[in-house]
Amino acid sequence: MPMKEGKMFIRALFDYDPNEDKAIPCKEAGLAFRKGDILQIMSQDDATWWQAKHEGDANPRAGLIPSKHFQERRFALRRPEVQVQPLKISNRKSSGFRRSFRLSRKDKKTNKSMYECKKSDQYDTADIPTYEEVAKYRRQPSDKYRLVVLVGPVGVGLNELKRKLLISDTQHYGVTVPHTTRPRRSQESDGVEYIFISKHLFETDVQNNKFIEYGEYKNNYYGTSLDSVRSVLAKNKVCLLDVQPHTVKHLRTYEFKPFVIFIKPPSLDRLRETRKNAKIISSKDDKGTAKPFTEEDFHEMIKSAHVMESQYGHLFDKVIVNDDLATAYSELKTTFDRPKSVYCTMSMPEKS
Ligand code: 5GP
Repeated sequence: MPMKEGKMFIRALFDYDPNEDKAIPCKEAGLAFRKGDILQIMSQDDATWWQAKHEGDANPRAGLIPSKHFQERRFALRRPEVQVQPLKISNRKSSGFRRSFRLSRKDKKTNKSMYECKKSDQYDTADIPTYEEVAKYRRQPSDKYRLVVLVGPVGVGLNELKRKLLISDTQHYGVTVPHTTRPRRSQESDGVEYIFISKHLFETDVQNNKFIEYGEYKNNYYGTSLDSVRSVLAKNKVCLLDVQPHTVKHLRTYEFKPFVIFIKPPSLDRLRETRKNAKIISSKDDKGTAKPFTEEDFHEMIKSAHVMESQYGHLFDKVIVNDDLATAYSELKTTFDRPKSVYCTMSMPEKS
């Protein structure tokens, strides 16, 4: 994509210190930055070293930073748990794919399947976080009705927090209605528990990138569509959505401008203390009754939170530790109530 020099802004997704960089041709010429900094790209003429300055820096002198491609390659070589694979282009539109490789985790553990990586621009957030392209954005009054994405390991209490928020103000908060291909049960109404559609339509919608995520359970499809988020926002409500963390990058578009909150477990000792009488909803016995937490559940929760944070931490706007529910809930509420800065930077809209 040809870039107009000096017109492009990127968000750094890692810390960089040229003094620690053995590859930089001249350390004094390097530009140090921290994860989250917004940088203005002045030149991309060199494939390995770009010239950039910090946003708003009046000094016209630009410094050297590693190019996205160069940094991705370096990160990939340093991370043994990821494999660099040639990008497989699926039967969806291929013109937008610019990345020359993508990553897959050997230990990827999820029961929700995500369809192939959506088309991306050169600067979308890869699984190796380097930079993402951003646009300056003036906040609108309507932004208070935005998408809030909650991410966290199984059992951390994410659903309970979501439920408390919802019942605290049903006029202000809303949730999406998922689609399913399973038959409607007698007590269910279309559009309430689920939107019931045929397998054929579901598959067509998957092909047309209409789902944020979908999965299969007992030969039926279940999924959450982008339109279901739009319909909550159209009612002037904050849309609360919980998803697997790998899904977040597809939601970080100019249209949705999501606020991403990671719900993190406390220490192992605090988990034992605070959850000793609690039950884990996702773990049910043969009769479908929720089971008490086990030591294994606690360990799994902490391990899974660690993996999520190390792999997707750059996508989280806020981390809340759910030590005790009341404190975590009040922190969550304060996060929403606190006014945000007048300007913020957001991922560029995806081009079709
Ligand atoms: P049921 O048919 O009993 O309502 O739900 C069966 C399973 O589908 C549950 O385990 C539920 O968590 C899962 N499910 C419900 N909605 C969705 C969704 O939007 N996406 C995915 N991947 N699974 C869902």
